[in-house]
Amino acid sequence: MTAQEFMNQNWVVITLAAFAAGALLELSAIHVFKRSGRVPLKDSALSIFLGLASDPVNAIFAIITTAALFAAAPFAIADIPVTWWSFLLCFVLDDLRFYLHHRICHRVRWGWAMHVVHHSSTNFNMPIALRQSWMKHFTGTMMLKIPLILLGFDPALVVFCGVLNATYQFFLHTETIDRLPRWFEYLFNTPSHHRVHHGRNPEYLDANFAGTLIIWDRMFGTFVEEDRAVPVDYGLVKNLETSNVFKILTHEYVGIAKDASQRGLSLWQRFCYIFAPPGWSHDGSRLMSMDIKRQAGLVPPADASTHVTSA
Ligand SMILES: [Zn+2]
Ligand SMILES: [Zn+2]
Repeated sequence: MTAQEFMNQNWVVITLAAFAAGALLELSAIHVFKRSGRVPLKDSALSIFLGLASDPVNAIFAIITTAALFAAAPFAIADIPVTWWSFLLCFVLDDLRFYLHHRICHRVRWGWAMHVVHHSSTNFNMPIALRQSWMKHFTGTMMLKIPLILLGFDPALVVFCGVLNATYQFFLHTETIDRLPRWFEYLFNTPSHHRVHHGRNPEYLDANFAGTLIIWDRMFGTFVEEDRAVPVDYGLVKNLETSNVFKILTHEYVGIAKDASQRGLSLWQRFCYIFAPPGWSHDGSRLMSMDIKRQAGLVPPADASTHVTSA
C-alpha cells in the first residue's frame, strides 16, 4: 500500500487522531506547563457533543453538495489533472471560497443562523472547533465550490481541499499559542488571528474570516491584529446563557421565523429579516455591528455606512 492509498483509506481516523492529540497537547500545555488557556469541562463536553452530533448529520447531507459538484463537472471549461501543482492551486482557490462563505455567514442572517453555533461559547479552546451546526449543506454557500468545478478541478480534489482546510482550522482554536513567527502570522491564519475572529469586543467584530491563508483578510480589508491591550472577550454580542443543545442549534432560526412573520411588515422587510446583516430591524430598534462600532467611537458617523458589519 502506498502512502497515498493509506491516507485515502484512513483519512477520517487520521483526522480524529490529530484532533484528539491536539486537544491533549492543549490540556497538557495548560495544566503541566502552565500556559494560558481554559478548557472548562461542561462547556468542552457540550462542544464535543455538538461535534459528534453534527459530524454524522453533515456527512450524510454532504451528498447534496457532492451531487451538485459532480453534476456541474460535465460543464467544466477545462480538464485539470490531479497533480501537486493543481492540488496547491485548488487549495488556494478553495481557501478564497472559504473566506467568501465565512464572510457571508457573518453578514447574512440566514448564514449566521447556521454559523452562530460555532461562536456560541464564551471560551476559546480546541473543542470549540468541533462546535458546528448541522445545517451546513442547507445554507447554500457550499455552492460557492461550483466555480472551481467549472474551472476544471476534480470534484474529489475540491472536497479534499475543503476537508484539509477544516482540519487546519481545528488547531487555530487555542489560547496556549501566543504568536507564531512574524512571516507565518503575515501569511497564514493563526490562533492569534482567530482569537480576534471569536471576539465580541467592538474592535474585533467582523474581522479575520480566513480559513488557512490570512492574506484574504489583508486584501479585502477585514484584517484586525490582536491587541494585547484589548483582551479578547469571546462569544456573541448577546450571549445565549444556555447549555440547551437544541436551543443553541435552532435559536437564530426561531428568531428569524418570529421576526419575519410579524404582522404589518412589507415583503421587503420580511426578506431583510432573513437576509440582511444580523441585528437588522425594520424599526431600527436593534444594533448591527456597525452601530456597535459607531457607539464605541470606532467608526466615524459619516463613514459608517461604508464599513463592514456583523453580529
Ligand atoms: Zn465565524
Ligand atoms: Zn473558530
